[in-house]
Amino acid sequence: MDISDTATKHEELRREIALRERKPAGPAATGYCLNCGPDAALPAGWRWCDTDCRDDWEARQP
Ligand SMILES: [Zn+2]
Repeated sequence: MDISDTATKHEELRREIALRERKPAGPAATGYCLNCGPDAALPAGWRWCDTDCRDDWEARQP
């Protein structure tokens, strides 16, 4: 891994955190992943484990 890979990873992580914090509308944080259910406990204010969970969840919404 060279330094540009590291920078890319960091950028991905930063974007992922921004995605988690965005979208104030929608479901409230429940303390666990809305996609995985009660087995996946999350820090306060998080609604999904990652963007994949969020995308899966959104895909199931009407
Ligand atoms: Zn999840």
